[in-house]
Amino acid sequence: MAALNGAVENGQPDKKVPQLPRPLRSLEVKYTKIFINNEWHESTSGKKFPTYNPSTLEKICDIEEGDKPDVDNAVEAAKAAFQRGSPWRQMDAPSRGRLLHKLADLLERDRVTLATLETMDTGKPFLQAYFIDLEGCIKTLRYYAGWADKIQGRTIPVDENFVCFTRHEPMGVCGAITPWNFPLLMLVWKMAPALCCGNTLVIKPAEQTPLTSLYIGSLIKEVGFPPGVVNIVPGYGPTAGAAISTHDNIDKIAFTGSTKVGKLIKEAASKSNLKRVTLELGGKNPCIVCADADLDLAVECAHQGVFFNQGQCCTAASRVFVEEQIYPEFVKRSVEFAKKRLVGDPFDARTEQGPQIDQEQFDKILELIESGKKEGAKLECGGLAIEDRGLFIKPTVFSEVTDNMRIAKEEIFGPVQPIMKFKSIEEVIRRANSTEYGLTAAVFTKNLDRALTLASALQSGTVWINCYNALYAQAPFGGFKMSGNGRELGEYALAEYTEVKTVTIKLSQKSP
Ligand code: ADP
Repeated sequence: MAALNGAVENGQPDKKVPQLPRPLRSLEVKYTKIFINNEWHESTSGKKFPTYNPSTLEKICDIEEGDKPDVDNAVEAAKAAFQRGSPWRQMDAPSRGRLLHKLADLLERDRVTLATLETMDTGKPFLQAYFIDLEGCIKTLRYYAGWADKIQGRTIPVDENFVCFTRHEPMGVCGAITPWNFPLLMLVWKMAPALCCGNTLVIKPAEQTPLTSLYIGSLIKEVGFPPGVVNIVPGYGPTAGAAISTHDNIDKIAFTGSTKVGKLIKEAASKSNLKRVTLELGGKNPCIVCADADLDLAVECAHQGVFFNQGQCCTAASRVFVEEQIYPEFVKRSVEFAKKRLVGDPFDARTEQGPQIDQEQFDKILELIESGKKEGAKLECGGLAIEDRGLFIKPTVFSEVTDNMRIAKEEIFGPVQPIMKFKSIEEVIRRANSTEYGLTAAVFTKNLDRALTLASALQSGTVWINCYNALYAQAPFGGFKMSGNGRELGEYALAEYTEVKTVTIKLSQKSP
């Protein structure tokens, strides 16, 4: 981010930094309908729902509201596209990879449009949408494009009169239910491996942020995916979302969102057809800073780790444990960082923090901030909304936080940094692990032995050492405990989108 900020220092473009991309000044939203069989449809019920720009609180447009009958139509299309002999099933694996590469090409072509739409709908800073979200989407599509023709089974040695091998086959119709914090990126994390393995899809984007997902529908058609391979049904969770999770003709579901809804989805899957389920849920991620750490690095990473994306990340560093010798200095520097954080119009290139997504999240964050004050944490800075500015919250730092406080236990999903103190490694391991979550953890130390001891002891799907939010399309991501089931990204995700079939053949020739 330093390079991005450098480009606008003192309001003057830095000549050493390449010209920054600029958002589109005016953008007509073209895609607002339900996408089934490569065509746009109105909702069966005739209902629509609004989507808002969280930084202005203005309505952007109305979207067709999908519900069970629309999900049924989408599933029928996806099922037909998956039938034996269909164009999609007949397509060879390299051609599937080629389509994914072409989709990545179109995301590159339309990157400014997509980043503009994402900023309008989520309030995230435009440069973040452009450089982080869109970059992640393009890299993920290209990564899985490369996998399409490399998905192989094995030959298994058995009795000499038999030949035994496995086939890694696509599962069928996959449901994808996505959240509002990284709408396009979370969609691509599901869509790219699903398509590379040869599945078909029914997608429901979050009701707060449907715009970029619907735009992808137009690109799917332009690229030339056969009709029915990708279907997108915007709508609400308890209606369209539940229709997907309970559907008997959906073979697998991938969900990113709250632990509460993740449980509902797993329950729905077990009460219907036992569809396979991948869940990427909440986190209350420990960020452990040892006294020997590079303090500049640790302070900046912990700051970005919690405030990035308005704090609306399942990976947020929302329990910072600092070794007691450096605690006062760490808090002082963290407060300096938080006070300097630029909050404002997400289309301004200098902005680091936009608004929260909606009133519900905004109220929940302020209520948790109040609980921190009441329970005795020391409010170092922030702690309030920005007056007269809708859904913007001041970057907030709490020190003297103890493990029993709600801000140390509950997922805040907002720009709030709780900082705790620890004395010994054994103590911090126990405290870091004493949560129902287990998504990510970070460790800052120069001592290799400590780093590796913590990496092995922390119960989380990812451990970052001397870095934060280092995510790669090729590295698996997912949670221990109630942070989820299964893994997205990397080679590991292929197993989540394929069934293993064992084929055993008896040879008729007897051994001499
Ligand atoms: P948040 O609380 O952060 O909004 P949710 O877990 O409620 O996160 O939402 C994530 C996604 O799950 C959204 O697409 C939402 O519409 C969907 N969803 C919400 N409730 C249900 C449900 N009962 N069944 C299926 N999907 C749901």
